[in-house]
Amino acid sequence: MVRENPKRRMWQYYLAALVPLVVIGGWFFPYLGYLALAMMLTMMVLMFFWGRWYCGWLCAMGAFHERILTHISLHRKMPDLFKASWFRWLFFILLMGLMTIRLIMSGGDPARIGAVFVMMWTVATVLAIVFGVYFKPRSWCNFCPMGSMQGVLTPNTYLLQVQPDCKNCGLCRQACPIQTYPGGYREQGVVPSLECMRCENCVINCPQQALSLPSKTSVQGRSGTKT
Ligand code: SF4
Ligand code: SF4
Ligand code: SF4
Repeated sequence: MVRENPKRRMWQYYLAALVPLVVIGGWFFPYLGYLALAMMLTMMVLMFFWGRWYCGWLCAMGAFHERILTHISLHRKMPDLFKASWFRWLFFILLMGLMTIRLIMSGGDPARIGAVFVMMWTVATVLAIVFGVYFKPRSWCNFCPMGSMQGVLTPNTYLLQVQPDCKNCGLCRQACPIQTYPGGYREQGVVPSLECMRCENCVINCPQQALSLPSKTSVQGRSGTKT
């Protein structure tokens, strides 16, 4: 049984409701797509302070996968392919290309712009459900274009710290919703931004207390590099 931060868990139950609201309601009222746009803009601001923290705590889609999809997921181990660069960037190019073309085709009409974001959330949700049912619920979050973008644009921001006390027991990997193994980064001392949503699951579950996140005002890796 994975222990979690109860506040994160509670927030995710509320946030998860936004997915059916936008994906289903948006086909009747396309302006609901602006909710998705607002969340994307929030993410783009927050990432410069806290890296992929948004993914772990605020993303409605991530919350939907972790709180709802989990009940029908087969929870199979995710293939390493999901973390391969080419696979991540293939999805980035395909989905961002689709969004750009549809935005150009909207001709600046506000309702059609909203419909583009409804369509994007629908496509992403369908893909996430397919992968999340067969593998672990948050499989999608390994190669979601928004997650990749945050990780790459903020490589040194608010990184998960790994202390030498780590005993390589593997428990943190089991606790991680995206199957990252923080213990594997003991030598580097930090987990790469792209590979971590700062959800704290591994921090809470590490028996050696070898993992930690810096305070939100200090974004310093063990290397001592302040950003
Ligand atoms: S990876 Fe994408 S879907 Fe997953 S939490 Fe981050 S922004 Fe949301
Ligand atoms: S749970 Fe802690 S001790 Fe075990 S591998 Fe992860 S960081 Fe190391
Ligand atoms: S490495 Fe730890 S903090 Fe990062 S996403 Fe996995 S469990 Fe959460």
